[in-house]
Amino acid sequence: MVSPCSPHIVIIGAGFGGLQTAVSLGGTSAQVTLIDRYNYHTFIPLLYQVATATLEPEWIAVPIQSHLRRWTNVHFLQGIVEQIDYGEQRIITDQTTLKYDYLVLSTGSQTHFRGVPGAQKYAFPLRTLTDAIALKHHLLQCIEEASQTPDPDLRRSLLTFTLVGGGATGVEMAGALVELCRRAWPKDYPFLRQQPVRLLIVQSGAELLPEFRQPLRTYTYKRLMNLGVEVQVNTKVTAVYPTHLVLDTGVHIPCTTTIWTTGVTVMLPQGQTLPQTAQGKIWVLPSLQLQQYPEVYAIGDIVQLPNQSVTGLAPVAVQQGTHAACNLRRQLKGYTPQPFRYFHKGRLAMIGCFLGVGQIGPLLIRGLMGWLLCLVVHWIYVPGYRSRLIILLTWLQSFMTGNKLAQQQLMKVRSPSTSTIQSPS
Ligand SMILES: Cc1cc2nc3c(=O)[nH]c(=O)nc-3n(C[C@H](O)[C@H](O)[C@H](O)COP(=O)(O)OP(=O)(O)OC[C@H]3O[C@@H](n4cnc5c(N)ncnc54)[C@H](O)[C@@H]3O)c2cc1C
Repeated sequence: MVSPCSPHIVIIGAGFGGLQTAVSLGGTSAQVTLIDRYNYHTFIPLLYQVATATLEPEWIAVPIQSHLRRWTNVHFLQGIVEQIDYGEQRIITDQTTLKYDYLVLSTGSQTHFRGVPGAQKYAFPLRTLTDAIALKHHLLQCIEEASQTPDPDLRRSLLTFTLVGGGATGVEMAGALVELCRRAWPKDYPFLRQQPVRLLIVQSGAELLPEFRQPLRTYTYKRLMNLGVEVQVNTKVTAVYPTHLVLDTGVHIPCTTTIWTTGVTVMLPQGQTLPQTAQGKIWVLPSLQLQQYPEVYAIGDIVQLPNQSVTGLAPVAVQQGTHAACNLRRQLKGYTPQPFRYFHKGRLAMIGCFLGVGQIGPLLIRGLMGWLLCLVVHWIYVPGYRSRLIILLTWLQSFMTGNKLAQQQLMKVRSPSTSTIQSPS
């Protein structure tokens, strides 16, 4: 039962970590306020399918209010947290000021363009639903313009798609673009059969998917090459322009679409200086508390734990969310918080065109099996029964008849007010 003198727990960020913390605190005696800039939670791992017009944006987003409605002690507040005064235990948002007894920071990360000239202005990030929608509209515009222009150089530039970063997001996006450009679009744009699309991954490291084991990296590289994707390793993009990009080898690539999938930086509201790593992550105690402020927990992409290197994954944020809630319950009862230990279930990545890779313990999975596993795991975790059903039917239809949704989206490109989900201004 929540009373006016119940402790007030504020959670900032309704991503994977924050939402899980809020749900895990449902039904407790604490009064919980969850704050996010958006009023919906996004299932980020499927953003690339929204960007490539396989799924509609609203199918991978769930309204936060409806997700929390069964808990009377958990409230949602839409707003941007601008400042935190850890000493005074006060949060200033663009809407109001709140006091807290306990705080959970779960503000996640954002794309980091590493100061590359033109990247922030001309490259497309893929971090939020708004990013995915913007990228989808741009891709559709490119194909439409390429079909109409008489200028062969412009057409080549419009049909060149460069992915900066060869991690899981870059590889998944490349595979999805292969499917879009080779299977879906040529049905409506026969000129694509004569004028092939150029797909390029630029990777600063020596290999693709560096977080996977060697055989899977080699497998991914070979399969992408077979699918016609060019891979440039040990190469960096040094400048991005609207019509081309420049590599550190000096090569200029005519290209209207640069998709930035590498590099993230933590997002933290202003406040007192906290101990941070060189990458900006906050050092936390094994219990996920801040050393100077034991009433403050930090979870997900923004934290660095001593002796634990796994980070930047949704399951890490979810498990930390559950653990932070558990420790808060302990603190409320006067017990000592317990250290967090991550249970690593494995890693999966989709290559596309019925191929995927995965590593689960010592087991290495590749090919059709990896692809199926990737789809099933993503599908299971998509929030909401209705979304899961629609996604399953859409995928089945795509596999049997090609991406009909992508073809339908082409009709909308001339009236680009397509999104049903509005981003807050
Ligand atoms: C394209 C892409 C694909 C990915 N695919 C996978 C995958 O397949 N598997 C996997 O395990 N991981 C994947 N990840 C990583 C995974 O999404 C992150 O590790 C996870 O989202 C981190 O969760 P989080 O709770 O820390 O932050 P997030 O989920 O990013 O949530 C942070 C929340 O905080 C809110 N917020 C931030 N600042 C403020 C503020 N000042 N005021 C109010 N609200 C604020 C944001 O709006 C956001 O809702 C992917 C990431 C990307 C970008």
